[in-house]
Amino acid sequence: MQTKILLDDEQIPKQWYNIQADLPTPLEPVLHPGTKKPVTPDDLKIIFPMELIMQEVSTKRNIDIPAEVRDILQLWRPSPLYRAHRLEKFLKTPAKIYYKWEGVSPPGSHKPNTAVPQAYYNMKEGISRIATETGAGQWGSALAFATKLFGLKCTIYMVRASYDQKPYRKSMMHVWGAECIPSPSDKTRSGKAALEKDPDTTGSLGLAISEAVEDAATHNDTNYSLGSVLNHVCMHQTVIGLEAREQLAMVDEYPDVVIGCVGGGSNFAGLSFPFAGDKMTGKHPDIKITAAEPTACPTLTKGLYAYDFGDVAGLAPILKMYTLGHDFIPPAIHAGGLRYHGDSPILSKLVHEGVMGAVAYHQNEVFEAAQTFACTEGIIVAPEAAHAVKATIDEALRCKKSGEAKTILFNNSGHGNFDMSAYDAYYAGTLVDYEYPAELIKESLAHLPKV
Ligand SMILES: *Cc1c(COP(=O)(O)O)cnc(C)c1O
Repeated sequence: MQTKILLDDEQIPKQWYNIQADLPTPLEPVLHPGTKKPVTPDDLKIIFPMELIMQEVSTKRNIDIPAEVRDILQLWRPSPLYRAHRLEKFLKTPAKIYYKWEGVSPPGSHKPNTAVPQAYYNMKEGISRIATETGAGQWGSALAFATKLFGLKCTIYMVRASYDQKPYRKSMMHVWGAECIPSPSDKTRSGKAALEKDPDTTGSLGLAISEAVEDAATHNDTNYSLGSVLNHVCMHQTVIGLEAREQLAMVDEYPDVVIGCVGGGSNFAGLSFPFAGDKMTGKHPDIKITAAEPTACPTLTKGLYAYDFGDVAGLAPILKMYTLGHDFIPPAIHAGGLRYHGDSPILSKLVHEGVMGAVAYHQNEVFEAAQTFACTEGIIVAPEAAHAVKATIDEALRCKKSGEAKTILFNNSGHGNFDMSAYDAYYAGTLVDYEYPAELIKESLAHLPKV
């Protein structure tokens, strides 16, 4: 009974898959937050390296992964594909369950798959420091790791609430030599303004983005980096799906169902885009692709497909995407990485056009699924990844009812070793199942930019 399906080091993909080549219609242009006109490469040049700006708009199907990037990815890639025999047995399902395990990276999630190439292109273009924001700390620790390996400095604005409550991610950033500053800070104008208004504020992700962008825009040697949502980020993550497709082929399999959790969309995009490409080009027209999100922040299942700002302050570009409104502050669920008001524009388009679907879950049922997974397969997954586990278990139980032996593939995006307080809250019975915040979302959707 084969459990792990492994590839050799040299089988790390040599090219990323750019799904923009296979979209039924081109993406809508990104708009400038001030002029509301399409952004130009020049607008973006003050905070991003040119290579990433070109990747963002490229419609070339395959883009070479630089050898120096593959060298570093090789520290943990190709990542293993597992067959979840014990979970199948526990569920008594005829379905075959496979999962791609991204928790083997040094920071413990899929995020370094894009942090490494982003640090590389910045280094190549002579940048010496990168500024970014982080919520729970997954992205900050991934970028700290990647910048260190390329000899760049890294400044991370970490939302004050997490900085105080989740000290260990901050400690990881320090080990990798990054400067981690609680946000709001007195280092930027946006931070100072927020502190003047409320010295005791616990901050927000939107505010931390504003601080990092301002830092990058006001220093010549510094660029900004984003861990999800953007096209180039989703493309860098396609190593996940490209490897998984190879690994399944080694056991003569192709998935009937592909599942992932969605915050900004990057890990789900990474696993699913190669398969979505197969679907759109008619190679596998019947494959089902499902995104799992929290009921408390139901961007794909309850949001509007419209132009909106990428951040709370309205400084970031305006994107066509599913959104709950840029000033919507999601309830404080434990899957911090899934609390974003918008989603990747490509993923949004594919959901809008019916190539993919979405489901939403409450926290308690998600942690119940995570416990089932830990007690069968052994891995204690991140609260974010637990949403994908829940959707997978539901699909496997549907197969049990119908007697179908479907092949299910899901992305296990990271481990939960620094999220044990969330598990403790689940066992203590203090996790709140927030209802769909209909009123808040309605109010927030009234503030979309007029374009
Ligand atoms: C950040 C994070 C996510 C959510 O981000 P996406 O861009 O939607 O992938 C999911 N899982 C883990 C483990 C994360 O760290």
